[in-house]
Amino acid sequence: MRKVFCIGELLIDFVAEKQGNDLSKATQFTKKAGGAPANVACAIAKLGGKGVFVGCVGDDPFGSFLLSTVKKEGVDISLAQRSKTFTTLAFVSLAEDGERDFVFSRGADKELAYDPSLRKDFHGNLLHLGAATALLGGSLEKAYGKYLFDAFTKEMFISFDPNFRGDLWKENEKQFIKKCMPFIEKSHLCKFSLEEALLLSGKKDVNEACDFFHEVGTKIITVTLGKEGTLLSSNNTKKIIPSIAVKPIDTTGAGDAFIGCLLYQIADLGNFNRVFEDYELLAKMVQKANKAGAITTTNYGAIVALPTKSQLEN
Ligand code: ATP
Repeated sequence: MRKVFCIGELLIDFVAEKQGNDLSKATQFTKKAGGAPANVACAIAKLGGKGVFVGCVGDDPFGSFLLSTVKKEGVDISLAQRSKTFTTLAFVSLAEDGERDFVFSRGADKELAYDPSLRKDFHGNLLHLGAATALLGGSLEKAYGKYLFDAFTKEMFISFDPNFRGDLWKENEKQFIKKCMPFIEKSHLCKFSLEEALLLSGKKDVNEACDFFHEVGTKIITVTLGKEGTLLSSNNTKKIIPSIAVKPIDTTGAGDAFIGCLLYQIADLGNFNRVFEDYELLAKMVQKANKAGAITTTNYGAIVALPTKSQLEN
């Protein structure tokens, strides 16, 4: 089993207790661990894979809570860093249909320092870059560029999820697109939501968007479509791979569960070049990853809701 290095933020999600999707009215919040790359590392570890988290949390009780939470799920946290800056916080409110509203108070995640010693462990392993905050500046953004370069030169399998958050890029969408392009060009696998695929390609049609991403360099494109499943585009074939029917109560983390499960399966392959050549093999993996995403929507919380291997198999 190859390692999957997941780089980016690990933060506190304060989830509003009452449903309603209106943060201005919420009065009580429950503390939960969150952050897309950490969720992906947990998704991989819960399935029995080797998820390695590389990110920075504050040297405070919230940071300790976060690291112990992901460690409990089996994630390797030996490369995590601590900073004097407070831990990054997000406040999340959920509507009855599982959709969410959230705001960030950014802290320690931006301070991740690039660690050149990681390079020796990179060869033949997988790298997942998917921080919602990584392209907002700080040393985390610099580390992202450097790890991308290292991964490319060390023949890693590179995965990218832009994790676009409208709130964070309100008047700056063009800058977001520009910052994402090097990652899209160098990644073997990109995971987009439909909104992200259209925004980043500048196309009006998702098929044209996929063609655009292939032209700039990505071999495998997945566009997650909620209950409809996932559009998989690879090796000159595009198909929607259906998901399973569930009753969603919280969609937080479905995308992370999806990409985590897909990366877990790719990490488990002896030779990951097979996924570039064999569309049917990849489609089966996406089908399983859809199931992981669907199961995650049936429980509250991004990490707690992630399926274990036996939940996924049954
Ligand atoms: P995020 O908002 O967490 O970044 P996302 O928008 O990329 O995630 P979704 O499309 O919500 O992710 O979900 C990822 C995958 O999980 C989907 O492609 C689908 O296969 C599965 N999934 C999500 N919601 C449902 C649902 N209601 N019913 C069945 N499957 C679902």
